[in-house]
Amino acid sequence: MLRRTKIVATLGPATDSPDMLENVIAAGVDVTRLNFSHGSAEEHMERARRVRETAARQGRFVALLADLQGPKLRIARFANNKINLTRGQSFVLDASMDKDAGTEERVGIDYENLINDVSPGDVLVLDDGRIEMEVTGVDDHSITSRVLIGGPLSNNKGLNKRGGGLSANALTDKDKRDIVTAARLGADYVAVSFVRTADDMHTARQLLREAGSEAGLVAKIERAELAHDNEALDDVIRASDAVMVARGDLAVEIGDAELVAVQKHIIARARVLNRAVITATQMMESMITNPMPTRAEVSDVANAVMDYTDAVMLSAETAVGDYPREAVEAMVRICVGAERHPSMHQSKHRIHQDMVQVDEAIALSAMYAANHLQGVSAIICLTETGSTPRLMSRIKSSLPIFAYSRNHTTQHRVVLYRGVQTIPFDTATLANEQVNTLAVEKLREQGVVQDGDLVIITKGDYANAQGGTNSMKIVRVGSPIS
Ligand code: PGA
Ligand code: MN
Repeated sequence: MLRRTKIVATLGPATDSPDMLENVIAAGVDVTRLNFSHGSAEEHMERARRVRETAARQGRFVALLADLQGPKLRIARFANNKINLTRGQSFVLDASMDKDAGTEERVGIDYENLINDVSPGDVLVLDDGRIEMEVTGVDDHSITSRVLIGGPLSNNKGLNKRGGGLSANALTDKDKRDIVTAARLGADYVAVSFVRTADDMHTARQLLREAGSEAGLVAKIERAELAHDNEALDDVIRASDAVMVARGDLAVEIGDAELVAVQKHIIARARVLNRAVITATQMMESMITNPMPTRAEVSDVANAVMDYTDAVMLSAETAVGDYPREAVEAMVRICVGAERHPSMHQSKHRIHQDMVQVDEAIALSAMYAANHLQGVSAIICLTETGSTPRLMSRIKSSLPIFAYSRNHTTQHRVVLYRGVQTIPFDTATLANEQVNTLAVEKLREQGVVQDGDLVIITKGDYANAQGGTNSMKIVRVGSPIS
């Protein structure tokens, strides 16, 4: 059985050797993530070039996801690089002090406005949740707090507020420069961090278009404001092509108790609103230093697959871990195993809802026929922009959807969608009556279908026009097809 759930792997020093990049792509990576929180523009350009080259050599379609750093708040640095905080002690975040002169009692902060965003009683969470402190006082240049959970704290660690509400804009000046880099390196997707509103996504899209890129936009859901406001969340999802359940910062902002329910909600809303969704962070965390996942990690990945996420993501596991290849292999294994469950093949998606668009009616009808007509073994979707396969893949099914397209952008966009594979196909040079026969022949050559199988084909009257899918045909492999 073909794996349907897609795998996003973050690149970094651990995958920089030509062999390792070759290995993780061969093991099944569908999307490579360039993390703009680390590394220079040149490094990202070079990694992107090598992904394209390796994928082409292996005959694979691997997308590039440029992930912008966003307004991640950070403390400055300590004179001795690291301190140790003890529970109950007082600690000061001081915007006016030398950024390199932190001590056991105080440290600088990069984002001065933080002072306007916190008040006594707020809980600040540092280093992805390892340190917590409660604000006891605020003056015009510093925040005083009492340590609730102590431990080691080193330079430039992240800083969040429990419950959210930090007002930094989603797109920083660095992000705006990085959008230009993402366009230059040919990113297929660009992810925006700490999104607050749909406007953040509109701004990002405009900047991306100005830079000459057609990349899809991913909204990272990691602020408490969105987790707690269903309408605001829906608005952000609608303004995006895909969303990411960014559990690292999200869990720090909302606490871990509600995280799983929020994940399920975000995935469900993305699917209902016809958007793709990636589940991210600490999925295989122990594999940074171990060749095998824990049972809890196995369960976490399988659970996301059963929530019907489009993709699961590896972060430090592949970027800086000791076992990048094993981490990808473990994910592949767990995805395929979870997809075998019968509940993964039956859909009640929108069965009682009205539709307004023709292409949507065709996409959903095709999937309904595919799931209920005996003998169907594949769906062929001739697509210009990839929007029809995206609609189709919102529906649970065990049948592969083949997105046939001549567009490099479309071929690399659809790799994120669950259950969708791409096949390069240019109808511009074909007579109309040849198209279906040749399309089916491609699948037979690949061994996906055999004589006697049924195949569902969808397309538009005007080949190569976008948004025009208006017909569906069911053909039998081996019989004359027109
Ligand atoms: P990050 O985003 O790794 O860029 O912080 C993902 C997350 O917060 O989970
Ligand atoms: Mn994050």
